Amino acid sequence: MRTILLAHVKRVVIKIGSGVISDNDGLDLDRIATLCEDVHKLRQRGYEIILVSSGAVAAGRADLGITGKPHTISLPLKQAAAAIGQSRLMRAYKDALQQHGLKAAQILLTRDDLANRRRYLNARNTLMTLLEFGIVPIINENDTVVVDEIRFGDNDNLSAMATNLVEAQLLVILSDVDGLYNSDPRRNPLAELISEVERLTPEIEAMAGTEATMLGTGGMVTKLKAAKRATLFGAGTAIINGRTPHNLLYLFDGHELGTYFLPARDPMAARKHWIAFTKKPKGKLILDDGAYKAVVERGKSLLPSGIHRLDGSFERGDAVRLCDLNGNEFAKGVTNYTSAELTRIIGKKTTEIESILGYKYGDEIIHRDNMVMGTGKEYNDQ
Ligand code: GLU
Repeated sequence: MRTILLAHVKRVVIKIGSGVISDNDGLDLDRIATLCEDVHKLRQRGYEIILVSSGAVAAGRADLGITGKPHTISLPLKQAAAAIGQSRLMRAYKDALQQHGLKAAQILLTRDDLANRRRYLNARNTLMTLLEFGIVPIINENDTVVVDEIRFGDNDNLSAMATNLVEAQLLVILSDVDGLYNSDPRRNPLAELISEVERLTPEIEAMAGTEATMLGTGGMVTKLKAAKRATLFGAGTAIINGRTPHNLLYLFDGHELGTYFLPARDPMAARKHWIAFTKKPKGKLILDDGAYKAVVERGKSLLPSGIHRLDGSFERGDAVRLCDLNGNEFAKGVTNYTSAELTRIIGKKTTEIESILGYKYGDEIIHRDNMVMGTGKEYNDQ
C-alpha cells in the first residue's frame, strides 16, 4: 500500500497522453468519460485537480489524412491537425465532466509564456482562480503558434512545468504503458516493472530506452525527464497505465500501481526550479577563479569584478550560464544587467557601476537568489 506517500497530497497534476485517450481514428470518448468519472471522485475526496491533456493532434489528424508517428509528421501539418483537434478535445472533456456537474477551462501555453516571469505569474493566477471556483483546468501546449525555440515539445515536459506552476504535490502521468521497466518490455519478455524510484540516477535513466509510442510525442525518456523535474521540485511522480479503466482511482486508493518516484529530500524552491527548468539561457559569463570560489564555495552573489568575459547577447532578466575559466559550466542565473551594459562594467568594482553607466540596478550582476547550481545538461536545456 502506498497511502502514506499520498498523505500530504492536496493538489494534483494529471497528465493524459494521446495514447490513453485516442486511437488511430481519433478520440476515444469512452476512455475520456471513465477518466472524468475518476476526476470527479477524486475531487469529492478533496483533491484539487489540474489536467494536462494531449490529444489535439490525434483528434484532428484524420481530417488531414495524416498517418504515422508524430515525429515523422511536419510541424505545419501537426499544427494544422492540432487546430482542428483542440476544440474537439475540449468538447469531449466538457461533455464528460458535465455528466458529473463539473466545468472545464482551456489553458493553452507555450514555453515562452512560462519563461517570462510576469506571464508565468499571470498563468498561475488564472489557474488558482479556476481552482477556487471548482473548475477543472485543462492545459495543453498552444500547438498552433509554437515554433521550435518556444516549444515544450511534449506534454510530459509541460506537465512537469505545470506541477511547478501550480505548486502541486503530485504529478500523475497516465501512459499507455504500465510504468518504468528495467528493460524494454516490448523486446524483453522478462523485463520487470520498477515499483519505486528513490532517486533518478543515470542507471535508471538508461532504462528508458529511446522509442516513442505511436500516438504521443514522448516515450519513457520524456516521462523520466518530467519525473526528474517534478521530484526536484518536491512533487512525487507516478507513471501508471491510463488505458486500464479506473487505474487513476486505484492509485489514490493506495494500490501499488506503475512506478512511483519519490519527491527529492531537498527540493528546490519554486523560483529556483523555474530558473533551472523553464528559462532558456541566452548567453554565458566566464568567471575568474576568485568569483568562481565565491559563488561555489561561499554561496555569494556574482559581482562585476569577478567576470572575466561574456558571450552572447541578452537582456536584463534573461538567464545566462556561468562558466569557470576553462569554460566548464557550473551554474545558471538570471542577470540584472544586459550584455551591452555588462561589456562596460565587467572587471570593475561595484562602486564604479553608477559612474560608468550613469545608473545602477544593484551591486549584483546575478543575485544569489536568482542562481541555481548545476549544468544545463542536468536541467535538460542543452
Ligand atoms: N500537444 C500535443 C497534442 O495535444 C501533444 C504533445 C505530446 O504528445 O506530448 O496533440
